Amino acid sequence: MVVEAVDFYGMSPEDIVKYLPGKDCGNCGYGSCKEFAVALSEGKAKVDKCPEMALRMRESLEGALSIKLEVHEADSSMSTVTETLIEVNSPGRDSPVLITGNCAVTLYVLKLIFDRAPDVSAWIVPTETKGFTIDHAAGMKLMTPMSVMRGLTNSGVSTKVDHRDLMIPGLCAGAERQIEMMTKWKVKVGPRSGFELPLLLSKER
Ligand code: SF4
Repeated sequence: MVVEAVDFYGMSPEDIVKYLPGKDCGNCGYGSCKEFAVALSEGKAKVDKCPEMALRMRESLEGALSIKLEVHEADSSMSTVTETLIEVNSPGRDSPVLITGNCAVTLYVLKLIFDRAPDVSAWIVPTETKGFTIDHAAGMKLMTPMSVMRGLTNSGVSTKVDHRDLMIPGLCAGAERQIEMMTKWKVKVGPRSGFELPLLLSKER
């Protein structure tokens, strides 16, 4: 599948540095974690140069940075998925529930991201965004409390988990209170970049 540049947000140095140990010890050969993050984002450094990072976080970061999407002009961004609930890495009853759109490109990229983080599991609930990618769907306010409610209902995810916490994409920030009122699920705003998801979920464990 080919992917348009607008369909994904890569991680910036500011995104990456949040997952580094923050010791500024220089053991990686850079003067600070921030400098190391810049080098990582530019592909000039390897994650394993930081000896301070926990193994799981290192693997998640390596996985996220290793994904190279083929960027082309494409017309595939309006294709939708038919799945109502997507299991990534054998999720369990305490695994997080991630809300996204029903764009095939978005789901393709998310699956790629989680393939590189086999230790991180989640339930993904696609919602009706008319095949638009999250950036467009957010701009057009297509991810509504009602669409999230319908997505949750159609997915049956409430029977699969023992909690009522869900995460919406960072690009949809601002809708959380209304979604909570409609769904009665507690809403957390996730990162703007989907590449960050395994890192954030690893950090929260
Ligand atoms: S070795 Fe790790 S903790 Fe130390 S400065 Fe580099 S990135 Fe930061």
